[in-house]
Amino acid sequence: MRIQDEALVLRRTPFRESSLVIHLLTRNNGLIGVVAKGVRSSSRRGNSRRGALAGFHTVNIETISRSPEAMGTLANVEIATARRKIPFSAKTLAGAQVLLEVAYRFSVAGDSRSDVMAKLESSLDLLDAGAEPLELLALSLGVLIHHVGYGWRGDECAGCRRDDQLLFFSVRRGQVVCQSCGQPYLKRLVPITGNILKYIQKLAWPPPFGLLSTAEQALLYRIAISSLVRACGKKLMTDQPFRSLVGSDLFTQAGYTPTDMRAS
Ligand SMILES: [Zn+2]
Repeated sequence: MRIQDEALVLRRTPFRESSLVIHLLTRNNGLIGVVAKGVRSSSRRGNSRRGALAGFHTVNIETISRSPEAMGTLANVEIATARRKIPFSAKTLAGAQVLLEVAYRFSVAGDSRSDVMAKLESSLDLLDAGAEPLELLALSLGVLIHHVGYGWRGDECAGCRRDDQLLFFSVRRGQVVCQSCGQPYLKRLVPITGNILKYIQKLAWPPPFGLLSTAEQALLYRIAISSLVRACGKKLMTDQPFRSLVGSDLFTQAGYTPTDMRAS
């Protein structure tokens, strides 16, 4: 079986002496795992393949496997769209890693996620072009959540369905809550601003840069990560390193500490 597709490298795991197991998000074949032989050796072929697989580039790949179930091997890889600047800033690099981990957690083998892939590529393009990582992540994670099937609702209150006085967000419900329904549950709800409500209602793309203050970006980022952690039942390994590079104080001041993170 031969697959030719465009892909993003989500994960690399050392395998045997000189190989890697690569997990790729492909445009038409969903998540696939392949063995990339010899990429950790110093041969010329190893070096050029390692370059294509190392960054945040969109790559053209060709894989060969004996059956649809068996893990294939990578026959060819070359860079289709290069994104070379992301690794030059630690914050940008950490932000890009958050995006890739989210994509990895929510991708399934054989299930084409071309919409997720397109949003991911567009987000990585913006990071590569110098977008502020916190703002970009705050504005793109909600859109990714929508595409992986856990979309937020901002049109009406989760309790009484009214469409005004929407002052809170419930991570558990993935929906906004009005002032009177929210009052008894203040500890479980996130207070949101008018700008955050506007963002949740539109989920506009390209991202509406300049809409949110830095504090609002930090709050929205936290809401998004909590929603994702809730949906996949696992902590995201890349979240904490990203937050410490951006500045942990910012997230404390944003006024919402997700329950599952309070202990740490
Ligand atoms: Zn209500």
